Amino acid sequence: MKFQPVLDEIDAEIRPLLGAGGTVASYIPALARVPAAQFGMALRTCDGQEAHAGDANKPFSIQSVSKLFTLTLAMQRLGEALWERIGREPSGNPFNSLVQLENEQGKPRNPFINAGAIAVADRLLSLFGREAKTDVLELMNSLTGDPISFDVEVAASEAATGYRNYALANFMKSFGKLDNDVETVLDMYFHQCALSMSCVQLARAAGYLCRDGVHPWAPGVNLLTERQTRRINSLMLTCGTYDAAGEFAFRIGLPCKSGVGGGIVAVVPDQLTLAVWSPALDATGNSLLGMKALELFVTKTGLSVF
Ligand code: GLU
Repeated sequence: MKFQPVLDEIDAEIRPLLGAGGTVASYIPALARVPAAQFGMALRTCDGQEAHAGDANKPFSIQSVSKLFTLTLAMQRLGEALWERIGREPSGNPFNSLVQLENEQGKPRNPFINAGAIAVADRLLSLFGREAKTDVLELMNSLTGDPISFDVEVAASEAATGYRNYALANFMKSFGKLDNDVETVLDMYFHQCALSMSCVQLARAAGYLCRDGVHPWAPGVNLLTERQTRRINSLMLTCGTYDAAGEFAFRIGLPCKSGVGGGIVAVVPDQLTLAVWSPALDATGNSLLGMKALELFVTKTGLSVF
């Protein structure tokens, strides 16, 4: 299938809708300043075909999409032991909910809600120590072939205002579920969320998720086993888009991971990875037009896991 005409068509349908709905994330001041009327989309097939449209080369704050990559690093090193501290069920609650965490004695429902990703960051710090942030950058550099960096302004902005994330981390610490101190864990978490990447880079970086764990470029290098990759895709489908995972499955039917910067990564197993970005979010914290673009893609191509 030739994908470039498909993405051009979607871009033409989305562009008139820019600015017509949704709001940028305002609880992180550096994100509140991002102009809402932008849209980009990129894909990369398992055999290396690429296509992109709109603002696909413009870097943005990937926010929770980073949870995919830190989970990958943790799964590589910890195997089954990772799941002693983190569950695998959809939360059915907002991504930063405190109530559920208290009811469940500091064990996050899944690795994609904030509490779960903070727990993963803690595990990475125990494994890699002070190098943990560098290890995340090295992974992203290797997956994209580009020098990827943290947007330090976004990280500082979140550190200055991340009251809920401090509350979540303190809760987990009080239940003995974090090994490192709260400041260090959140510094790691805020930096991973502040990774700055474009749709083209994200579609490339996620390539191992449609290739049974095989590195998107390097022949013979496995990031994850086939089984681990299947598990990440399942978690994306059931937990990757906050408490709109049911709606995503209903309308799109692909494993997806979204972030409050307006990015969404989607996987068509054995075929391709897609990244979309548009900063205006709906009430569930997902990119309004990003979701619409994915729905159009599935409708036009018939590519879905269902
Ligand atoms: N850094 C954001 C936060 O912790 C990430 C949220 C998201 O993208 O879902 O609130």
